[in-house]
Amino acid sequence: MSDVLTALRAALGEDAVSTGPAVAARATSYWDAAPTRARALVRPRDTAAVSRMLAICHAHDQPVVTQGGLTGCVAGAVAGAEEVILSLERMNAIEAIDPLGATATVQAGVTLQAVQDAARAHDLLFALDLGARGSCTIGGNVATNAGGINVLRYGMMRALVLGLEAVLADGTVISSLNRMLKNNAGYDLKQLMIGTEGTLGVVTRVVLRLHPRPVSRDAALVAMDSFDQVTTLLGRMQRDLAGTLSAFEVMWNGYYRAATDTGGHRAAMGREHPFYVLLQAEGADPAGDAARFAQRLEAALEAGLIVDAVMPQSESERLALWAVRENFEAMLAGRQTFLYDVSLPVSAMAAYAEAVQAACAARWPQGRCIVFGHIADGNVHLFVQPGSDEATHADSDAIVYAPLAGCEGSVSAEHGIGTEKIGWLNRSRSAAEIDLMRLLKRSLDPKNLLNPGRVLPP
Ligand SMILES: Cc1cc2nc3c(=O)[nH]c(=O)nc-3n(C[C@H](O)[C@H](O)[C@H](O)COP(=O)(O)OP(=O)(O)OC[C@H]3O[C@@H](n4cnc5c(N)ncnc54)[C@H](O)[C@@H]3O)c2cc1C
Repeated sequence: MSDVLTALRAALGEDAVSTGPAVAARATSYWDAAPTRARALVRPRDTAAVSRMLAICHAHDQPVVTQGGLTGCVAGAVAGAEEVILSLERMNAIEAIDPLGATATVQAGVTLQAVQDAARAHDLLFALDLGARGSCTIGGNVATNAGGINVLRYGMMRALVLGLEAVLADGTVISSLNRMLKNNAGYDLKQLMIGTEGTLGVVTRVVLRLHPRPVSRDAALVAMDSFDQVTTLLGRMQRDLAGTLSAFEVMWNGYYRAATDTGGHRAAMGREHPFYVLLQAEGADPAGDAARFAQRLEAALEAGLIVDAVMPQSESERLALWAVRENFEAMLAGRQTFLYDVSLPVSAMAAYAEAVQAACAARWPQGRCIVFGHIADGNVHLFVQPGSDEATHADSDAIVYAPLAGCEGSVSAEHGIGTEKIGWLNRSRSAAEIDLMRLLKRSLDPKNLLNPGRVLPP
């Protein structure tokens, strides 16, 4: 038994430290069912235990990888064989909800969905929402600065975090559990932990910003002939729905076809249209909101902006429309798939998607390149499925990332860099920016023990 594991067991208790088959029995991640490889798995119950754990690992020069719900898309939480896993799964309490201040104080291992449900029970909304809601954790959402489907109205996770508590690599606890919207007393230290993918500290508790819960919800799936029409509709709906538009999800034809074909979903309308948009508005006046939503869609139909539209008549019909957009697993099953998450100006998006699809088709005529995204946020996702055993991730990366240079795009809109995109960070960040990132990393984690090999190139 190595010294570090003996020390961890002594400090945290036998049941908090697992090794061997108990670790291998766990899947590597949401995306990879292979057994987890790691030196040990540690599951503390509170911040004090996280602090003791990290102090011990620091003293033993033991690298640590932090895990939340393991739904991250860039393999940042995937452990190496010599790493010790710090799982937040036992730290899943919702400690307090303050209805007056509209805040929730939670432990970082709680799932996003549990927080959404708890806020709803107080007639409030926690506005972050994404397909992995049932599994991803608030700590992971903070670490990745998660985006999702409501960003156009409420912002990314960064906009929903008021304060947090984190443990640094040497075990120091930084408690910055601010509950106010305004607090300019010195540096805003929580920002060091948001979107830095666990490389600067372990997030243990978070104060979240809640919003009034909307009581109306109107959705529609519409079909459109051109991307210009898509952006025109977005502008009109943002203006005409009086700020209630909360989601505007675009699916290129290939996505809709695949989802309603091998993806296993029922097609609510013809599958021949170049673009499909799933839009949703949420407000405070059910009758008035529904009438305004329907009226604006009718006007768009009459103006020829939309060529077809389906408005769900029940909650189950609404969920079925969302399932087409969110439940894409069947589309991926049995096919080698490279998943991308880029951002770029909306004005450059149509040409970008066309260029990447053309390059993929030229390279892998038997494959497909599926495009969809949260375009109001400048965010496009792509599934590249080469359909060829010879295709490599690097080939596909080169095709997807090359055209971004011409339009000031980013290799990551919301998933982060993890291990998968390290080689591409310098496409989206200057040398001076990366140097400053390194300086921060060296200052907070001089031994490079927290999530080593993630985000920053060696
Ligand atoms: C079906 C599906 C849909 C998705 N949709 C979206 C989407 O719309 N928008 C979006 O942004 N993402 C999306 N994702 C990606 C993923 O859900 C998010 O990145 C999520 O925030 C990750 O949370 P997690 O708890 O699973 O983190 P993990 O995967 O466990 O970890 C992700 C990273 O955060 C670090 N980390 C985790 N917890 C902590 C902590 N407490 N302290 C410090 N570091 C920590 C890990 O080390 C790792 O680097 C989707 C994923 C799936 C599977």
